[in-house]
Order: sequence, then C-alpha cells, then structure tokens
Amino acid sequence: MTTIPRSEPGVLTIPAFHDNYLWLVHDGKNAVAVDPGDAAAIAAALDAHSLELTAILTTHHHADHVGGVRELARQWDVPVYAPLHDAVAGATVRLAEGDRVVLDRPAIAFRVLDVPGHTRGHIAYVRETQGAHWVFCGDTLFAGGCGRLFEGTPEMMLASLGKLASLPDDTLVYCAHEYTLANLRFALAVEPGNAALQARYVQAEAMRAAGEPTVPSTVGLERATNPFLRCDSPEIRATLVREGRIGPQAGPVQVFAALREWKNTF
Ligand code: ZN
Ligand code: FE
Repeated sequence: MTTIPRSEPGVLTIPAFHDNYLWLVHDGKNAVAVDPGDAAAIAAALDAHSLELTAILTTHHHADHVGGVRELARQWDVPVYAPLHDAVAGATVRLAEGDRVVLDRPAIAFRVLDVPGHTRGHIAYVRETQGAHWVFCGDTLFAGGCGRLFEGTPEMMLASLGKLASLPDDTLVYCAHEYTLANLRFALAVEPGNAALQARYVQAEAMRAAGEPTVPSTVGLERATNPFLRCDSPEIRATLVREGRIGPQAGPVQVFAALREWKNTF
C-alpha cells in the first residue's frame, strides 16, 4: 500500500469590501471558501492561485459573509455548509454544535461550535485535523474585540466567547474583519495598565502601517489582551465602576454587557 503525500493545508487571506476578510483553505490544488461575501474576490483568488473550489463554509447569515454563495455555488456546483439556525440562501448542509465537516479535497476536518450572540445561529469551525489549530469564528470573536449583539443577549455572547477562549492558546483566530486597531484603542481605555495589550497595540499599528492584516491572531493573545475575554480583570471592573457603568457587585455578564454597550459608542 502506498500513501499519497498530501501537502499541509494553508489559508489564503482575501480582503474584500471595506474591512472584511474572506478565506480560502487550500492544499495547493483544491480550496474551501469560508464566508465568501464577494464572489468576484473569491473567483479572482482561485484564478490567481489555480485552485478549484470544492466547498463553501459560512458562519452566519449576514450579506458580507454569504453574498457570494449563490454565484460561486452556481459556477462550481459545490456543497454549501451553513448554520442550522441562521437562514443562508443556497445552503445544502445545515450545521449545529457537535457536527463535523469532513472534507477530502483539501483533506481537512472541522468540528462545529454554536456561538450565538451576533446572530442567533452563528457557528464557528474548529480545525480537527492534526496540524496547526485554527478557528474560523466569523463575527463572534475579533482581534481585540467581539461582534455586536444584533440578535442575541449578553449571556449568550459571553458563553460563546467562553467556548472560543477555551480552545488551545496557539489556535489561530481567523475572524472576518480588520477592526483590530479600533478594538485595541477601546481595550486600552478600559485596561490601560495591561502591558501585553500595550505591546500588542504597538505591534498592530506597525502591521497596519505596513499594509499587513493583523488577522489571524491567537487565542492566547486574545485571552491576554481582549477585554471581552477579560471580564474578571480587576482593572476593567474598576474602570467600569469609576465610569458609572456598573455597580461594585456586578457579575461577569453585567461587566460584559457594560463593555459591549460602551464600545458601541466609543
Ligand atoms: Zn456579521
Ligand atoms: Fe461581518
């Protein structure tokens, strides 16, 4: 019996619209598109890298994540994976927590997490295959921040972020927007004494100045610097109390809700 060597899958970052990132997970020949909001951007990247589209994964129903699904699926006739509890036009496989996505080309498997809050049905894809740890988390966890609560409650979102934060520290976080600098400015306002956060801001500024994406980050970096994963930080709590946004007895959900509300107008 011979084993055909397969190359370790990689991820292509495809900027789209104003600040979105779309992704192609590929093996040099075949590619899976994640959150293809823009069919033309995906098609151009497939063409530029001579890749064949074999599947589409979507995290939630917003147009900047699924706008290109119909066009790409028509062109390539591929399965479209989508959340069970979000309506995505063109979906052929509906997924919820505990489900797995096992693909042949590229050879890669993901397990699905329910991460409601930004939308009711939002899901994340965690790479299961041996190799680097990855998570595609759409608009739930961002580099230095988190998504807005359009359809869910603070309780829901805090639980969803908790699931993502419990992934291994070296997990690469593929979030769908370049919001990092604005997020880190807010983080510095609520936790100015966090040395890891200060260092991250300097680094992120340099990356953006050089025209580089700040995404993916890692779960470890998010846990150390992202205020929405740090609702137990005494400094964050003290800032919110001083600002009159929570009482001294507030629990983690109230801390989270106060942070999210403040960020909405920051
Ligand atoms: Zn969204
Ligand atoms: Fe989005």
